[in-house]
Amino acid sequence: MLNVPSQSFPASSSQQRIASGRRSKVPLKQGRSLMDWIRLTKSGKDLTGLKGRLIEVTEEELKNHNKKDDCWICIRGFVYNVSPYMEYHPGGEDELMRAAGSDGTDLFDQVHRWVNYESMLKECLVGRMAVKPTISKGMLPKSRVTDTLAKEGPSSPSYDWFQTDSVVTIVIYTKQKDIGLDSVIIDHQDDSFRAETIIKDYSYLVHIVRVVENVGKIEIILKKREKTSWKCLGHPLENDNSLVPKKDTGLYYRKCQLISKEEVTHDTKLFCVMLPPSTHLQVPTGQHVYLKLTITGTEIVKPYTPVSNSLLSEFKEPVLPNNKYIYFLIKIYPTGLFTPELDHLQIGDFVSVSSPEGNFKVSKLQELEDLFLLAAGTGFTPMVKILNYALTYIPCLRKVKLMFFNKTEDDIIWRSQLEKLAFRDKRFDVEFVLSAPTSDWNGKQGHISPALLSDFLKASLDKSKVLICICGPTPFTEEGIRLLHDLNFSKDEIHSFTA
Ligand code: FAD
Ligand code: NAP
Repeated sequence: MLNVPSQSFPASSSQQRIASGRRSKVPLKQGRSLMDWIRLTKSGKDLTGLKGRLIEVTEEELKNHNKKDDCWICIRGFVYNVSPYMEYHPGGEDELMRAAGSDGTDLFDQVHRWVNYESMLKECLVGRMAVKPTISKGMLPKSRVTDTLAKEGPSSPSYDWFQTDSVVTIVIYTKQKDIGLDSVIIDHQDDSFRAETIIKDYSYLVHIVRVVENVGKIEIILKKREKTSWKCLGHPLENDNSLVPKKDTGLYYRKCQLISKEEVTHDTKLFCVMLPPSTHLQVPTGQHVYLKLTITGTEIVKPYTPVSNSLLSEFKEPVLPNNKYIYFLIKIYPTGLFTPELDHLQIGDFVSVSSPEGNFKVSKLQELEDLFLLAAGTGFTPMVKILNYALTYIPCLRKVKLMFFNKTEDDIIWRSQLEKLAFRDKRFDVEFVLSAPTSDWNGKQGHISPALLSDFLKASLDKSKVLICICGPTPFTEEGIRLLHDLNFSKDEIHSFTA
């Protein structure tokens, strides 16, 4: 459904514009890019037809708005008039119309729950679904803040809540006009987590975390700021004490500081961001995060796959609990929406980084004997940690081979590191394939093909345990998967990185 142009607007000259799978993209009319949409939302035009009013929408009312020129969709309890957005939607009008006049949350989540629709569609907000609060099992208790505040302190905050079938939203009434975001402080240092809310000169403090490995136990140690007795631990927030599918949870972001930016190729840079001291976060091997920047007033989110800072450094990711830095190899598209903004950040500026996502599990690498990596362009990024992980932690591994597709020699990311690694570790081999080489290139040429693959994918032993990872422009990945199936590799032996 709603989309941003990372995969939706590849350059018209690019093969990435070929439609792919269930997420086919439709050609958008001139003047209907995401940037054009952002401009329209800033124009002051009444996009809901409600002259700025927000209303409560009943299910019956929602059902009535099910036509292209009058299309309302509910996402997580909020109703949007998406008719003005139709022509700007990279997935096309038909895809949006699948949710017309109904709750589109599940459809939205299936396709790209990470898209910040609240920001993209804020001018289309019609209002909230009118659902009468009902108390159900396991619901959150009413606030008991009064209990924990001294008698002479500020008047006690209270909260209200409402729910739809799938979400509960809590509204906290602090009864203080001057409460802002800076009244809530979240930090993490030296393995402990703290969350502090300042109400006048009162503070409520939670201080946490130590993980005891291998016994399935997490010990949370709370340090009191004042030696007063607590009547309760705190007040539960949304989803407190609930086990919900990960896909149903929202993305949580934290602001990270840009520490360094180094050129890697003519258009690709290694960005290093520092997590706030408050944060403990390790991006698992093979997973990605979303970076978020506000571009002309709208929050734009794109996925990126963290890498280690170099291929040759000792690989320590999974064992160091206190990693402060996250590295990204990012190609800057001069006419792209997000990457030029990212590139304009100065050292010390901030970018928001989400919690990790992705379905790659390192357990796939266990007992592996042959690992084949097929990467095109920045599709190399997930391979970096996988390569490091496999060479460091998989004792039975005999061979890791990377076939790296690029246009020209100048586009090859970390070429000399790859060559050094191949020299240093006999289990590792790399082959470069160029689609637009200069005349002096002696290596392999062309696109992914049966001939290239069948030769490359010879396992070190018959019946050895094999995994093939593939990542690059969507049509490259799709073609690769097709060829791998033709070569009789099973689903379990292939992991593709897609959007
Ligand atoms: P876009 O605005 O998406 O533009 C890309 C290209 O399309 C540009 O050439 C632009 O000129 C062209 N274009 C834009 N709008 C139009 C239009 N209306 N018509 C025709 N052409 C248009 N990238 C990395 O560099 N490193 C990573 O580690 C990485 N990890 C990823 C992980 C995942 C899971 C996925 C799905 C993608 C990843 N990407 C990564 C790609 C990344 O998310 C972005 O797609 C990429 O950075 C381009 O973003 P952009 O906004 O700068 O460009
Ligand atoms: P690029 O430089 O445009 O292309 C890299 C190589 O792939 C080139 O040789 C190119 O050949 C070839 N290629 C392109 N389309 C092809 C097709 N249909 N069939 C066969 N080969 C094809 O790549 P890029 O700009 O770095 O883009 C990398 C892509 O990887 C982006 O789309 C990004 O979203 C994706 N990515 C995904 C993830 C993930 O985890 N899902 C992670 C990182 C990156 P030509 O010269 O013919 O174009």
